[in-house]
Amino acid sequence: MFRSCPISNWVIGQIKTMDDITFSYTKLTRRYGIKFLHDNVSHIDTKKKVVVTDNITVNYDKLVVSPGVELDYSSIENWDSSYSDVFPAAWKAGKETALLAKNIKNMHNGGVVAISIPLSPYRCPPGPYERISLIASYIKDNKPKSKLIVLDANQKIVSKGKLFKKAWDDKYKDIIEYRADSKVVEISPSENKLITDFDDVKCDVANLIPPQKAPKLLVDAGLIKEKELWASVNAYDFSSTMAKDVFIIGDSTSQISVGKVPKSGYVANSMGKVCGLAIIAELYELKKLPPSMINTCFSLVSSEEGISVSAVYHYDESLKKIAVVKGASGLSPKSSSIIKDNAWDWANAIWNDMLT
Ligand SMILES: Cc1cc2nc3c(=O)[nH]c(=O)nc-3n(C[C@H](O)[C@H](O)[C@H](O)COP(=O)(O)OP(=O)(O)OC[C@H]3O[C@@H](n4cnc5c(N)ncnc54)[C@H](O)[C@@H]3O)c2cc1C
Repeated sequence: MFRSCPISNWVIGQIKTMDDITFSYTKLTRRYGIKFLHDNVSHIDTKKKVVVTDNITVNYDKLVVSPGVELDYSSIENWDSSYSDVFPAAWKAGKETALLAKNIKNMHNGGVVAISIPLSPYRCPPGPYERISLIASYIKDNKPKSKLIVLDANQKIVSKGKLFKKAWDDKYKDIIEYRADSKVVEISPSENKLITDFDDVKCDVANLIPPQKAPKLLVDAGLIKEKELWASVNAYDFSSTMAKDVFIIGDSTSQISVGKVPKSGYVANSMGKVCGLAIIAELYELKKLPPSMINTCFSLVSSEEGISVSAVYHYDESLKKIAVVKGASGLSPKSSSIIKDNAWDWANAIWNDMLT
């Protein structure tokens, strides 16, 4: 099944369910004859041009990888993977999303929720702030004595800052306590505490979103440059700079090589289209077309209203990177219920685009 990260914050905010963000891949198989192999890739050998899974070995002529992000807990003292039940990240949609949603729903009125945000770059820059807004919105309507403490490793809100700040000031002044420059360095599972260099925060419900990097699979395959965390690609076609006939798209790619695009699903989808066309051009010995990409990130600031940021991108020949088309980007001027509707329509449109 495909479980969507977009709209997963709505599940945590109790306005959608896991069923609403869960889809099957069968239409792709039936309509387009795509052969799916649901298996774990354990190794990629770019010299022999093979992908090794837990069960079989697949030869390739062209390989596209889009493995997303690896959650990196190495800077958090006391971390053990068994603690993900106490400190779920819910940063890959699935059982941790359902667990966090359940924890929020079951929390007593007067409880404390603590959310930690890692240093940028991480998957979906506005994602944590949307999550905070939706939990606060639920708390305000259902458990008004509760509090939400935000420990942000960044110096300020990293995306749509003014719009989020305004919404929080207008709607959740008594609920959200925002602490910038507050990186979580340790946890205490027995006491339910998130620990920064300055504070110990005891909470009833924790959401620890750790730092992120490209998965080890890509490091082991020699697709990540030494001392870098993300995969370097040619921004014209998303081919790897490290191995021939390998293409890397999505969150795993480095902004240093691609240009300043956010790690979003919309961008990953755009990259997939550019890369797909480039591969067709290679196979048929056609001229590759210059990339054109688009991104809109919608975020809800309450169960009723949303905000958005959009940009159209092109390939900048002088920079050799993806760059914003001048005059073709911007923020919504304020929050509105229309943007909430747009957000839901956008999600349905991209699910449709990907899966039907
Ligand atoms: C809470 C939240 C809200 C978000 N909201 C939005 C939004 O509103 N709009 C938006 O544009 N983006 C949003 N995003 C970001 C978006 O989800 C990601 O940018 C997008 O999923 C990136 O796609 P990807 O293909 O790089 O990675 P993924 O979607 O994570 O896909 C990677 C896939 O590779 C598989 N994989 C990894 N390693 C292996 C292996 N070794 N073997 C086999 N399979 C493997 C994984 O299982 C996964 O299916 C949100 C993210 C979060 C966390």
